[in-house]
Amino acid sequence: MEQNTIDEILMSGFSLINVKPFYDLPISEQNHEGKRSVILMKYIGEMPVLCPKCNIKLYAHTGKELLVSDTTFVGAPSKLQLKIPRKRCHKCGYIYQPKIDSIDESRFMTKRLVAKIANLALKRSFDDIAKEYDVSNGTARNVFKSFIREKKEELRFQTPAFIGLDEIKIKKLGELTVITDLEHKTLYDMLQGRNQTSLTEYFNQIPNRERVLWVCTDMYRPFEKSIKTTFPNARWVIDHYHVVAYANKAMDAIRISIQSKMSKKDRVATKKGLAYTLRTRLEKLSLEDAAKIRECRENLDLEPLAIAFDLKEDFFNIYDKNLESIDNAKKAFADWEASIPADKIYDDFRTLAKTVHNFYEQIFNYWICPIAITNGFTECTNRIIRENNIRGRGNSFEILRGRTLYRHANLEKIENNGMLLGPCIPKKGPVFHYEEVKGIQEVVAEDENTYFNSMDYDPTIGLIPGINFDPETGEIFDETLLEDWNTELE
Ligand SMILES: [Zn+2]
Repeated sequence: MEQNTIDEILMSGFSLINVKPFYDLPISEQNHEGKRSVILMKYIGEMPVLCPKCNIKLYAHTGKELLVSDTTFVGAPSKLQLKIPRKRCHKCGYIYQPKIDSIDESRFMTKRLVAKIANLALKRSFDDIAKEYDVSNGTARNVFKSFIREKKEELRFQTPAFIGLDEIKIKKLGELTVITDLEHKTLYDMLQGRNQTSLTEYFNQIPNRERVLWVCTDMYRPFEKSIKTTFPNARWVIDHYHVVAYANKAMDAIRISIQSKMSKKDRVATKKGLAYTLRTRLEKLSLEDAAKIRECRENLDLEPLAIAFDLKEDFFNIYDKNLESIDNAKKAFADWEASIPADKIYDDFRTLAKTVHNFYEQIFNYWICPIAITNGFTECTNRIIRENNIRGRGNSFEILRGRTLYRHANLEKIENNGMLLGPCIPKKGPVFHYEEVKGIQEVVAEDENTYFNSMDYDPTIGLIPGINFDPETGEIFDETLLEDWNTELE
């Protein structure tokens, strides 16, 4: 018999009668034989002798049979058929029925199956889980939803001293605000939408708001009021990756305007495409790509591309070459602004200069903020959000948030950094029972580094393969870029 267990024959309140295999489930990837098992068990736990009210003998009453889904048994979905005796008092009509702790009666499941589904749903699709355990897709989904709601009450995170706010657009769900703990590199929360009212309202309910010392965002003016009114000790800093991204976008706008006037055959091509080449940092250019840029420089029609490339490079270098001194950085910016040629074609760079002036203090706070602000972590989080969304197409925001926030990797990091408030991650409870889910840890465990390593994402280039550029051809999806450019500057 596999496992004297079945959770030690359901915590020893039962004895096993028999196991009946059936081969009548649809054959699927999760279940090659279409097999399932019905495990018949009989309650052998204690039964009272006397009626608690009348103190007279209880008599045997018709027993009850309970059919509940359990975790897999020898690799196939299983149901427990539990024979449960009852007793009745002839005088008052009281009926005794033993309470089975390991069963979630409202769901017709063992609690360990509830835990397993909740944990698996962090990583896998509901369809997949439903097939593996022979439950309905809706059941799996409901288990996960109530898990998320329970966790929302139970798991409270310490308010970070360094908050990062970022925005991600998700099809059907719209704009989401992603809130991170930049110091510990954990995801703090996610919100649907990002207008000033909803942000202020959300910030207002964060406990210990005085803990927040720095808020790091992109250049979105409405943040100013939300931050000022809700975090009394916080300073606002603009993530430098959001700033330099504008230099890329200004350069792209010039490239698009020049390329649109060229015939298809005249378009300058490089291995990865000119768009990608221009975005590449100077020191990373291949010989071939460097030659293409030189070619632009020597051709009167294409020269603005080379100048745009230089302007982009010089702008990045305001940061890269002046990390030690805010004064030098400010001077480098002033020099850069003065170097923008008067031609109208460079207006987008002038707009960028204007934007820097608009957010001057917050942008140069970068040199004052005591922790390194990197968007590598944010990009990684955003990627996990996107992947969770792709996996669970059509899922609600609540499910997407739960799947992203309650990942083991995130929770463990939060707990290890002492940022978990309230009851700790229950180690013995039904969910996040680490021993119980050991077998599925491989599936659930998630090393954020794999995201850094698996994608050739370079934040200075700012292109995410498959999202806004085609890694095969190097083509940048211009519509998405221009759309961002227009909406962000509004
Ligand atoms: Zn009685």
